[in-house]
Amino acid sequence: MTIFDKIINKEIPANIVYEDDVAIAFHDIAPQAPTHILVIPKKRIDQIENMKEEDKPVIGHLFHVATVVAKKIGLENGYRLIINNGVEGGQTVFHLHIHLIAEREFSW
Ligand code: AMP
Repeated sequence: MTIFDKIINKEIPANIVYEDDVAIAFHDIAPQAPTHILVIPKKRIDQIENMKEEDKPVIGHLFHVATVVAKKIGLENGYRLIINNGVEGGQTVFHLHIHLIAEREFSW
């Protein structure tokens, strides 16, 4: 269990921008840019490297949801999608998520 399960189960509040049976997207509590949204699967996969063959549709769906959210909020000029994997990859919440970050300068 991570804090994201509590968001999925509506035990703690989040600013949810999208939800379906497989995924949920909400604003990051500590945004690194004017737009910083997390897209997560409802099924807990702890890290991308532990995804199973059967998870391939779920992972594809997350990227699709990211595009739906980006369109919904009008990100016409692009955005960055990031997955931090593992401690040395900067991951702090071990429930797979895609960061959708936009409306800031990226130096790399
Ligand atoms: P990562 O460091 O890639 O594992 O990303 C975890 C992200 O979850 C960070 O950007 C946190 O700010 C964010 N986060 C942690 N707790 C919450 C929460 N309760 N609601 C929204 N975002 C959160």
